[in-house]
Amino acid sequence: MLQRQTIRERPVPGLAHAFVFWGFVAFGGYTITEFLRGLGIVDLTHTRGFYLYRLALTPFAIAVLGGIVFLAVRRAIFRPVALGKTVSVESVVIAFFIATLMVTFLLGWRLDEASPAGRVNWWVHSFVILAFLALIPASKHFHLVLSPITVFLRSPELGNVPNLDFEKEQVGLEVVKDLGSKTVLDAFTCVECGRCQVNCPAWGAGKELNPKTIILQTQGALLEGARDAKLAGIYSEKVLWQCTTCGACENQCPVGIEHVPLILGTRRGLVSNGDAPDYLGGMYNNLERRSNIWGLSYDQRQKFVDSSALEIFDPAKHDVLVWLGCAGAFEADFQKSLRSLFEILRARQVKFGVLSKERCNGDPAKRTGNEYMYQELANANIADLKAAGPKKILTSCPHCVKTIGDDYKKFGYEVEIVHSSVFVEELTREQLAKAGTERASITFHDPCYLGRYAGKVDEPRNLLTRFGAEIKEPVRNRDNPYCCGAGGGLLFADKEEEPGSRISDVRFKQLQATGANTVVTACPFCSIMLKGAQASAGADTHFVDLMTFVKERL
Ligand code: SF4
Ligand code: SF4
Repeated sequence: MLQRQTIRERPVPGLAHAFVFWGFVAFGGYTITEFLRGLGIVDLTHTRGFYLYRLALTPFAIAVLGGIVFLAVRRAIFRPVALGKTVSVESVVIAFFIATLMVTFLLGWRLDEASPAGRVNWWVHSFVILAFLALIPASKHFHLVLSPITVFLRSPELGNVPNLDFEKEQVGLEVVKDLGSKTVLDAFTCVECGRCQVNCPAWGAGKELNPKTIILQTQGALLEGARDAKLAGIYSEKVLWQCTTCGACENQCPVGIEHVPLILGTRRGLVSNGDAPDYLGGMYNNLERRSNIWGLSYDQRQKFVDSSALEIFDPAKHDVLVWLGCAGAFEADFQKSLRSLFEILRARQVKFGVLSKERCNGDPAKRTGNEYMYQELANANIADLKAAGPKKILTSCPHCVKTIGDDYKKFGYEVEIVHSSVFVEELTREQLAKAGTERASITFHDPCYLGRYAGKVDEPRNLLTRFGAEIKEPVRNRDNPYCCGAGGGLLFADKEEEPGSRISDVRFKQLQATGANTVVTACPFCSIMLKGAQASAGADTHFVDLMTFVKERL
């Protein structure tokens, strides 16, 4: 009703669209009343109430007229890239219809309704409404009818991909007839605004993936009635593997279209037929043999646990369970970040422990469509977590927050899980930076799974400013960050074979453009990707993890 999503990203065109929408709603009663009179059912148009209603509609009419003229000029003359290369005749006709409706309404104040001019005016208005009603179902303006339904039915959880039920022999989306009813509704609700497209990091880096095209291709296949056509053939396999699952498309779509379940569902269909790209084979092998993405042995994790003097979690003794994650347990760089976290926790007398054994949470399997492997990992982790019985889990990996916090709920396991930025922000609220701490000019890269999925954008910033940072915001920040390019299994992709630029290179340039000499990250995978981009750029930008930044300044 408030058109928040439409206005948020594009305030001026969004407001113009909102005027048209609010006018559409406000004029509903007027149109019905005039038609009741025209059909000879009842004439309420000469009552005082109707006169006042018409009076109240006048500013709406002016706003709608201004809005539609602006939108038509923008579409026909300025031609933003998101709206496509051609101007559709349909859009021009609709804009003309809306403008005509408003002009004829306003003329109604000037013309005597019984005069020939007044009658022609009334008929033009009514004829345009009838033509409009006939045009709506056959055009993208069907969103007038469908979008309230898709917005209402949209999952409250971003990137919600329900579990497959193997007992019902579900294997994912393979052909058109496998598409769910919400996806079908989505395909006919798309207004082709291109918000998903311009926010997609893959499209932004020059790859073939365009989430708007995916939706329109779905619509095309449904209209053709090609029920048995393979989805991977409709979208192209290559494109499906370019998605990082960052959620930007879905998050920006003003009409509640859910792209991520469609893309991941189709990946599941491919994986169930053995059609995953080669680079995923190694990662799946590692998960199967060693339960971590790197394929390292458990001894490595144990060494880290011992050298950090970590205790095994005991609910009677510890307040919180620290989930190390694949990166924290095995990746040397991120182990430093966890050591900083442990120091902060110990300094603030937080009693914490870890599991004696952890598997990967399953995110890389789930988001590359290997549902069977994901469910095996998730069920084993859930059994261990239930046995350990933590009330609260703390982790430095935003992917673990999403998977354990949201995805494990679908197995009936609910636990409070917080990212270290949120936990430490609360823990150090009364604390100041140590004396002599210099101000640092930094830029913060919001991880997609922290900023967009979990909506945690203030906590890392509060921590940074509290401990002496002057933040220079990059383009695409807070809850609409530009992805680092690691999600959806792309951490393992062969970058040399990708078309266009690397997503991480594009993001690194955006961070560099802030002029800050330090980049702060809060996700192990963002850190790996962006450091890789820094190395290929040969830049001397300094990287620091959020926990280490805080620890050094406490
Ligand atoms: S989830 Fe991200 S990468 Fe995938 S299609 Fe949407 S915007 Fe593009
Ligand atoms: S899917 Fe949504 S954001 Fe993308 S073009 Fe269609 S309406 Fe716009």
